[in-house]
Amino acid sequence: MHLHGSAEVNQNGELMIGGVSTVDLAKQYGTPLYIYDTALIRERAKGFKETFKELGVKAEVAYASKAFSCMAIFQLMKEEGLSLDVVSGGELYTALKAQFPSERIHFNGNNKSRSELITAIENKVGCIVVDNFHELRLLSEITAEKKRKMKVLLRVTPGIEAHTHDYILTGQEDSKFGFDLQNGQAEKAVKLSLESEYIELIGLHCHIGSQIFETTGFILAARKMIEKAAEWQTAYGFTPDVINLGGGFGIRYTQEDDPIPPSQYVKEMILAVKEEVSRRGMEMPEIWIEPGRSLVGDAGTSLYTIGSSKEVPGIRKYLAVDGGMSDNIRPALYRAKYEALIANKADAAPEDTVSIAGKCCESGDMLIWDLPLPIAEAGDLLAVFCTGAYGYSMANNYNRLPRPPVVFVENGKAKLVIRRETYQDLAALDEYLT
Ligand SMILES: *Cc1c(COP(=O)(O)O)cnc(C)c1O
Repeated sequence: MHLHGSAEVNQNGELMIGGVSTVDLAKQYGTPLYIYDTALIRERAKGFKETFKELGVKAEVAYASKAFSCMAIFQLMKEEGLSLDVVSGGELYTALKAQFPSERIHFNGNNKSRSELITAIENKVGCIVVDNFHELRLLSEITAEKKRKMKVLLRVTPGIEAHTHDYILTGQEDSKFGFDLQNGQAEKAVKLSLESEYIELIGLHCHIGSQIFETTGFILAARKMIEKAAEWQTAYGFTPDVINLGGGFGIRYTQEDDPIPPSQYVKEMILAVKEEVSRRGMEMPEIWIEPGRSLVGDAGTSLYTIGSSKEVPGIRKYLAVDGGMSDNIRPALYRAKYEALIANKADAAPEDTVSIAGKCCESGDMLIWDLPLPIAEAGDLLAVFCTGAYGYSMANNYNRLPRPPVVFVENGKAKLVIRRETYQDLAALDEYLT
C-alpha cells in the first residue's frame, strides 16, 4: 500500500496522519470525515515556489481553489505565499472573508456575471482572466462606469487538448473556454482590450486539461502562445508581461498512475518559454501557474465506517460505507479510481476482494470496485486515499445526507476547519407550503 505524505501505521495497526490516529479522529468527529495532511500541502506549495526561484523566473503560483475551497485552506495558501484562482462569486467571497490579499486573487471562469465582475472590481482583485467577447464588453462597460483600471489576462485555447495519458492537437479546438488562438478570435480580443480605456492587458492565459502526466502539452501550449505574442508585438506593440499556463499536473491515485515530479513540469515550461522568447529577442515574461489537484489531492483522505455487506455468490462482495457519491462524486462522475485500507487494521494483509458501495439510492453510487482488503466487518473504518481535490468541493446533499466535516492534521494536532452539516442546516433554506 502506498502511503502519502505523513501517513504511517502505528504499533496498534492504526493509520496515522499528521501524527494523529485516524481511529481517534473517527471517535472525536464521527464519519464520514475528510482529513487533510497540511504538512504535505505546504511541501507541495514550497516545491512549486522554489523551482521558479531556482531558475530565476518571476512567477505567481495560484492555488486553483475549486479543487477544495474553504477559509482555512485559503489561510494556509496565504501563509505559503501563494496566489489564488477563484471561479465564482462564492469562492471570491470565501477568499475575502478569509482575508486573502485581494491583489493576489485571479478571477477565472467562462460566464462571470455582471455582479460577480462588480464585486471583483470593487474588491480590487489582482486580475481578471477574461474568457470571451461578452465578458470583455461587460468588463469594459463596468470599469468605465466606475473609472477603475483592471488588469486582464486573456484566456486562449491554444488548440492543444491534454488528456491523462495523451494529448491531441486540433486546428479548431472544440471547447467552451477561451478565445481561439487559430481562428483570429484571440487576436481580435487583444485588439479590443488594447482599445479599452480601463482594461490593462497584462498577458495571456491557457489551461489545457487536468490530471496530465506529460510535459509535452504544456510545452506546446507555451510555444504557441509566445509565437502569437510575437506577432502581436509587431502588429500592435503588445508585449505580454505574464504567460499563465494554468494547472493540470497529474497525481498518483493508484498504482496505475506514474506522475512526474511537479518541479519537472515547471522546469520544462520555463525552458520552453525562455527558448522561444530569446529566439525572438523578446523580454522574458513572468510565468504563472494554477495548480489545484497537485497541491491538495494526495493530502486528503476520506474516512468512513463500514456498515452493511452483500455477497452475490460467485460474482462480487459489496461493502457499504456511511457516505458515497454525496461526499465523493468522482467515481460516479468519471470512473475515478482510489486505493483504500482499513484504518483500524492498517497492518493486516489483504485476504479478500470487495467493492465499496455508498449509501445513496443509485446503483452508480460506488466508491471503489474490486479492492483488495483484509476481512472487514461492520464498524471497521475505511480510509480512502487521495480524495483531497474535487472531493469535498463537489460534495452535495443527495438523499439529504449532511456533508462531512473537514479536519486539518499536522504535528500531532487536529483542527476542525469545516463542521459537519446538521439536519437543521439541511432544512434551513426550506419554507413551509402552508
Ligand atoms: C481547474 C482549473 C485549474 C486547476 O486544475 P488542476 O487539474 O486541479 O490542477 C487551473 N486553472 C483553471 C482555469 C482551471 O479551470
